[in-house]
Amino acid sequence: MRYLILSDIHGNLEGLEAVLADADGQYDEILNCGDAVGYGPDPNAVVAFCRDRCAVSIRGNHDKASAGIGDPEWFNPVAQASIMWTTEKLTQQNLDWVRALPSGPVCVGGFFDLVHGSPADEDEYILDGESAMAAASCATSNLTFFGHTHIQGGWEIVRQSLRPVRNDRFSVERDLGYLVNPGSVGQPRDGDARAGYALYDPEERQVEYRRVSYDVQKTHRKILEAGLPEVLGLRLYRGR
Ligand code: ZN
Repeated sequence: MRYLILSDIHGNLEGLEAVLADADGQYDEILNCGDAVGYGPDPNAVVAFCRDRCAVSIRGNHDKASAGIGDPEWFNPVAQASIMWTTEKLTQQNLDWVRALPSGPVCVGGFFDLVHGSPADEDEYILDGESAMAAASCATSNLTFFGHTHIQGGWEIVRQSLRPVRNDRFSVERDLGYLVNPGSVGQPRDGDARAGYALYDPEERQVEYRRVSYDVQKTHRKILEAGLPEVLGLRLYRGR
């Protein structure tokens, strides 16, 4: 079984479609590490995709907030505005589906985990060595895919030390631990505006980080037409 691993799609249909075209034929199942909605102009289309096509989806902080779980006060004003807009736009069926999403960690196939933030806390960010080490100590399997930061990359954990794994492709060694962020499909924040995702082949023990360009202008235009804050379109050009 080969996996296409997605995270932080954030209602960006153009980014998602570009990823699916780029990865075509290279996976058997799709997994989603959360934040299908929020920020982007196509929450219903993205939720319908996740519902119909993803073998496993977990919830992210924007999914939760859009479904009325938790306190939206935690978010900055731009994020809050997009969450309110998303809640209003989601159909009842899609809202119900988002509300019922499980929190991570969810174990896939008995051998690796999906989380949104970190294995310890779905809302926590794994941003640096320190937070990665803390997350690794709570991980319940050797390989954990996470999202939330919108930064593609990860860490290999060798005993008590970490090694960044940011090559395009790397091998998952049997006895080591891994925290891997596939990148954000819909709102990358690592300075690369292209949509990010990962492919994982457990038989070959290979993870591959991928990037693909998409029609940012079109998504930007939709954001403006939807009346969402313009900054949400502008940041897509910078990937920040
Ligand atoms: Zn996110």
